Amino acid sequence: MFKIGRNEKCWCGCGKKYKQCHERSDEENLKKFVEEGYPLPDKHLILSPEDIQGIRKSARLSVAVMDELDSFVKEGVTTLEIDELVAKLTADGGGICAPYHYEGFPKHCCTSLNNVVCHGIPDDTVLKDGDIINVDVTTILNGYYSDMSRMYMIGNVSDEAKQLVEVTKECMYKGIESVRPYTPVGDIGNAINDITDKYGYGVVRALCGHGVGLEFHNDPIVNHFRTDRKTMVLVPNMVFTIEPMINAGTWDCNVSKEDGWTVTTADGSLSAQWEHTVVVTEDGADIITRRI
Ligand SMILES: [Zn+2]
Ligand SMILES: [Zn+2]
Repeated sequence: MFKIGRNEKCWCGCGKKYKQCHERSDEENLKKFVEEGYPLPDKHLILSPEDIQGIRKSARLSVAVMDELDSFVKEGVTTLEIDELVAKLTADGGGICAPYHYEGFPKHCCTSLNNVVCHGIPDDTVLKDGDIINVDVTTILNGYYSDMSRMYMIGNVSDEAKQLVEVTKECMYKGIESVRPYTPVGDIGNAINDITDKYGYGVVRALCGHGVGLEFHNDPIVNHFRTDRKTMVLVPNMVFTIEPMINAGTWDCNVSKEDGWTVTTADGSLSAQWEHTVVVTEDGADIITRRI
């Protein structure tokens, strides 16, 4: 039933053949989903313990870069200066900034300010009191990708902005907590949408979390909004991001016609985002990009 050969090594890293380890329990866990027509992941989405170790090392560099930003991102700093620091720290750590020249993206990280949902391009914009900004860092180290972002509140922000930033963080963590092996990835969006409903916030639909690790963007697609579609069933050793983009107003967005990248809220309302890379374990999810 599952797409691993019986004589191949088991995904868990025990070194035994699949048929001698997890084959039977996988079949039992996945049977009802197969019968109901849920898609299962392809084998290449189930990463080896060695590859997961490589992604963890990459994540340590991403976290170290972001930790430096925690004290650097403040009033008076330009988004270009943030970009230059990300580029320097990543290179110093032996890594590569994945966004740089990715499909023509011109800078090393994304800086998304106020009504910018994501993919904001660093420039000479000066951060000012009351701004909220997301900085998104994706690092490649020894070929392994790790992807994360944090929000920063500059000086005195409005109560509305603060609430949006904090609720969005809660959405990310509740999404992560909802992850279980042998459950559909769509449960993440259901958990997040349950929270945003209480505040009347819009969950961005046009952009999603994604498989990551050996490539920048891979399956599964991780939507952050509620769905009753039959989404891909998660199994241990899948690695992906959870990165809800939550708007204070409508979920609808526009992409800049000028630069082809910057995504803004359609109604001009504020937007916030937090992102972690996680690995599915045998009883939940482990946050690979957590602070050390
Ligand atoms: Zn990211
Ligand atoms: Zn991402």
